[in-house]
Amino acid sequence: MGKDIKIMIVDDDDNMRENLQDILSEEGYKITGVESVEPARQQLRKEFYNLILLDIRFPAGSGLELLQGIKSRNTDLMIVVCTGFASVESAVDAMNRGAFAYLQKPLNVDEVKITIKKALKMQSISWENKKLIKKLKELSVKDPLTNLHNYRYLRERVAWEFKRAQRYILSLSILMVDIDYFKSINDVYGHQYGDVILKELAAYLLSCARTNDIVVRYGGEEFLVLLPDTGKSGAWQFGKRLLESLQEHVFDPKGKRIKLKISMGIASFPEDGFNTESELLDSSDQALRNAKEMGGGRLSLFQGISRMDIEKIVDKGGKEKVDNLKEKLAKMENRVNRNLLESIYAFARTIDAKDCYFGEETENILVIVVGIAKELELSDREIENLRHAVILHDLGKIGISEDILHKKDKLDEREYAEIKEHPRIGAEIIKSIHFLHEVIFIILYHHERYDGLGYSSGLRGEEIPLGARIIAVADVYKALITNRPYRMAFSREEAVKIIEEGSGAQFDPRVVEAFLKVIKEM
Ligand code: GH3
Ligand code: MG
Ligand code: MG
Repeated sequence: MGKDIKIMIVDDDDNMRENLQDILSEEGYKITGVESVEPARQQLRKEFYNLILLDIRFPAGSGLELLQGIKSRNTDLMIVVCTGFASVESAVDAMNRGAFAYLQKPLNVDEVKITIKKALKMQSISWENKKLIKKLKELSVKDPLTNLHNYRYLRERVAWEFKRAQRYILSLSILMVDIDYFKSINDVYGHQYGDVILKELAAYLLSCARTNDIVVRYGGEEFLVLLPDTGKSGAWQFGKRLLESLQEHVFDPKGKRIKLKISMGIASFPEDGFNTESELLDSSDQALRNAKEMGGGRLSLFQGISRMDIEKIVDKGGKEKVDNLKEKLAKMENRVNRNLLESIYAFARTIDAKDCYFGEETENILVIVVGIAKELELSDREIENLRHAVILHDLGKIGISEDILHKKDKLDEREYAEIKEHPRIGAEIIKSIHFLHEVIFIILYHHERYDGLGYSSGLRGEEIPLGARIIAVADVYKALITNRPYRMAFSREEAVKIIEEGSGAQFDPRVVEAFLKVIKEM
């Protein structure tokens, strides 16, 4: 540790300086010792230092002057001043001029070490902040209609806030907001008028939030407020106040004087026990759905299991309690996931429509895939992943132009190259959904071939995840037995024969063998 960290000690007391130099070198820091202000100034011009330990009672050239000069030139430098009892006032002065801390002489070695560590930590936090701010500025981060932050900004920001909350043991809450029956406002008054109302709500949310809160347009008529350093009870108070004032608020006061019914959901770290920012996000969404299910116009807290619940259950002990807990956890997972899945599946269905060879066949394909998986003795979890993969594997086609998907003639090279992107796009879309992380690789590699001649990565044989090898067989079979824009369907017998012929080349022989058994029994 501390290997590349450079510290300068400025002290006219030779003994003191050398002593400190020895002690701090042992900590792994690179130390430069100088005895007065002038050489310190020169050295600082030549080289970057992380930290300077500065005695501010010098006979020639006050340390305070040095401070002023260097802090304005090098804002990243951490300054720790040392002072005798007589000069506490100048120490305070030093702090005002940008020093991080001051230590009184005689120095206590442990205190020196701890102060240095703290200063360096502060420095790295501030670097991290700067980096993040730069990155965020680079992203296109504003929603044009409301001028609020957009979803893309949120993803970056929430990841960073979550990490920060975990590392420094802080709270972080999310308040999700959705207008009830907003469609009807569009239907009755027109879409443009809907836009006006959305803008007004955005401004209202912004005016209610604290400066540190981050207000985001999450989707169409869904908004989100990210509440750093705010736990569950704080978020609840904020949400309740907001909801109450919104219930009274008259939108478009000079015109149609509209009132909105609004639902909200809250989830909080660490109270709700999340491990990732995606879980936090999903759960605030889940809380919002609960509010809707209870009739809307209300605020709902995420109902996970609180830490206290867990402690109680663990305290009481007993197998029954543990089973109870497991059951609760399983339900919770499923509840959160189901909503998400529904929307992803809805998304996937739009592709069925686009790439019209799908449809009714999906059911049969599911049966075939599960059959193969059981034949190969895959675990329940792997089978579950495969189920998702059957529905989601072509999700990436959403990114391919319809002209190409529906083209009757042979695809040219560029068009074919575009088609070949769909596994990658699909994987990219579901990348951030934590409970689908094992499905990502099935999707990404479902067009690989056993002989290594497929795409996206040219993996071969066992390098290709088994799930992807299974989907590959089922997917080709499905394609063969349905009409395509450029040819008529094959009969089932013909299709099976083609698959059989591909065994060992395009397909994994073990998978083909299992496939044949399953087909025979259907
Ligand atoms: P619910 O009570 O379940 O929230 O119903 P809802 O109609 O509010 O919500 P749903 O999520 O089913 O539909 C959202 C509607 O919001 C669909 C669309 O008409 C409208 N919407 C989404 N984005 C915009 C937009 O940018 N401008 C306008 N005017 N309307 C939008
Ligand atoms: Mg709505
Ligand atoms: Mg909505």
